[in-house]
Amino acid sequence: MLGWQDTRPLSRILEKGEAGSIKRAFGYSKAYELLEHFPRAYAARGSGLAAETADEGEIVTIVGEVVHTTTRESPKAGRIFQVSIHDGVGVTQATFFRATWQMRQLSVGVRAIFTGKLKFFRGQAQLQHPQYFLLGNLRLLKKEESYKERVAQLMLNLPFIPIYPAKSSMPSWRIFGAIHEVLRTIPTIEDPLQQFAPNDLPSFDASVRGIHMPDAGGHEPYRQRLLYDEALSLGVVMALRKADTRKRVAPLLSAPDQRGAQLQASLPFDLTEGQRNVLEDIRHDLRSKEPMQRLLQGEVGSGKTVVALLAMLQAVDAGAQCALLAPTEVLATQHAQSIAAMLKGIDVKITLLKGSMPTSQRQQALLDIVSGESNIIIGTHALIQESVEFFNLGLCVVDEQHRFGVEQRDTLRAKGPDGLTPHLLVMTATPIPRTIAMTTFGDLSVSTLRELPGGRQPIASYVVPAQNSLWVARMWQRLREEIHQGRQVYIVCPKIGGEDGVEEMTEHLSNTEFEGRRVMALHGQMPSESKATVMEAFAAGLIDVLVATTVIEVGVDVPNAAAMLIYGADAFGVSQLHQLRGRVGRGANKSICFFYTSAEPGTPTLERIGKVADTLDGFELAEIDLEYRQEGDVLGTEQSGHNRLKFLKLHRDARVIARANDDATAIVHQAPLLARTLVRDIDYDRQIFIDKS
Ligand code: ADP
Ligand code: MG
Repeated sequence: MLGWQDTRPLSRILEKGEAGSIKRAFGYSKAYELLEHFPRAYAARGSGLAAETADEGEIVTIVGEVVHTTTRESPKAGRIFQVSIHDGVGVTQATFFRATWQMRQLSVGVRAIFTGKLKFFRGQAQLQHPQYFLLGNLRLLKKEESYKERVAQLMLNLPFIPIYPAKSSMPSWRIFGAIHEVLRTIPTIEDPLQQFAPNDLPSFDASVRGIHMPDAGGHEPYRQRLLYDEALSLGVVMALRKADTRKRVAPLLSAPDQRGAQLQASLPFDLTEGQRNVLEDIRHDLRSKEPMQRLLQGEVGSGKTVVALLAMLQAVDAGAQCALLAPTEVLATQHAQSIAAMLKGIDVKITLLKGSMPTSQRQQALLDIVSGESNIIIGTHALIQESVEFFNLGLCVVDEQHRFGVEQRDTLRAKGPDGLTPHLLVMTATPIPRTIAMTTFGDLSVSTLRELPGGRQPIASYVVPAQNSLWVARMWQRLREEIHQGRQVYIVCPKIGGEDGVEEMTEHLSNTEFEGRRVMALHGQMPSESKATVMEAFAAGLIDVLVATTVIEVGVDVPNAAAMLIYGADAFGVSQLHQLRGRVGRGANKSICFFYTSAEPGTPTLERIGKVADTLDGFELAEIDLEYRQEGDVLGTEQSGHNRLKFLKLHRDARVIARANDDATAIVHQAPLLARTLVRDIDYDRQIFIDKS
């Protein structure tokens, strides 16, 4: 928890045997780990926890009184003993097979705590063979049972009983007992936020206790405080990063703008107003001694690359080198080619550095980079490697940021001249939801290109259900018409091999739907030369149909490709579909995109695909995407126990995040030492908020 940790070993705190059981069940050995095992629900005293709050298959705990029992003989199962437990609200059945001693203990009027797996049988909540222990009947308890009795009494006195994620070897009540013991032995905790503790929320001490053992007011206020602390921890990390960069010095990249003016004069178009504004901001940043930290986001095809190129030329004019980091070799190569084409006749040396280059070529590239011969260096991860040294790196441009971690961009920037930190421009075509921008990219200033240049035609999108053979036939027909009119088609498949994979599909389509047309495959496992050859042939219009995996997702630009079919659209997430679709609609022709799916009507999957088909607004889709991802996150999190964010939901808690960010800035300015202590234990560089793949 933010700024406070109880590092005592559980074995020193807990009743004999409990620490070992907890270690085996959850892997916890320290008190703080157990304290962060938060309840998944709360049950008001006397109410059932089963029916209302739990799902089939969950381990639940029920405190109640036996109100009825029956016994019957089944030819197959033997004797079945059934107990009705009244918990103050509803009745739950507990069933025991071949019961013997249970029949003696569980008579009407006995109170007990039952723990077991919940099943629903004809709408009736049932526990099968639950573990249980009796309450208020000390006569029946063996000596070692007095611990159970103590825990039970504690629980019964709470206005709300916490229900923990449990295992059958470690039921909820035992987790509660252990947590209670840990909390009991912690003296009042001073608020780690000191004078910055939010005064409209409970204190830290109250919250750590209240989240496990809420008073009559319930757990919500305590949850709010812990949620705020989580948001604050993200905010403090970002504010510290920002403050750290402020202290660094960047090369001054002001020079009369020569090469940029040359380029602008040679472009067949004028910059849009949006491009001009963003460029003005960047130019201003580059002339400052404070390193630029800027995120440039814009739809696919919004013209980010031209803007970045003009910025790089300003750096080159000032005698500095620029690095352009691309996520894939295909993209790096394409950038190198299109940039070289645009810069024809302008005095700039471009060097491409890829992992797959022959040694001699690589040596030459490295030499050109270290000697200062090259001005613009374009490459993949290969650029980050230690062997790469720059002569005078002044500006780093990172394309498609979501593929790179914060660490990677820092490694690249560390390659600047002694004592200087290169300016940084991060570009992304995935519009970043506001909350993620505030948390993960909180240390960057954000520029946005909202309009698409050059009067582009919007893309018409259609969902094509596999079971509707009429639509499917029409879809193939439509794609053939596109080719007939001289345009090119992308077919995207979710995998390379197997049924519906790129290889099989290429084979199949060239013999059926696209017989007589030039159909080629492109995927990540092809040797990079073949990939480049195919890509070049497609760009040159020598291929009619390109069957590919998501390697085409990023950056590839072929304006004549006006149609796309995403085969098995259900395999892709919201923003991936949107990204893929962005490969078409880049020319003057009206483009079309089909989402082919076998998802059943009424399923969330079909709904998700439909939402992508319904809008081209990347920002709207980004928010939708976050909602879907968040659900996936929650599931993934519970299994791996990896995510540190236990309370914060990025798509829901925007207001708390905004507030915490402001507070974090204040803390970093007014109490930098405190800020550092607060986040001492956090390794947020490795923190994954959104899937980076
Ligand atoms: P992004 O990098 O944002 O995906 P690009 O910079 O690759 O977009 O631009 C996509 C296409 O639009 C390119 O062919 C580019 O030359 C063209 N383009 C960029 N800016 C303009 C503009 N202002 N007017 C017309 N076309 C433009
Ligand atoms: Mg691009």
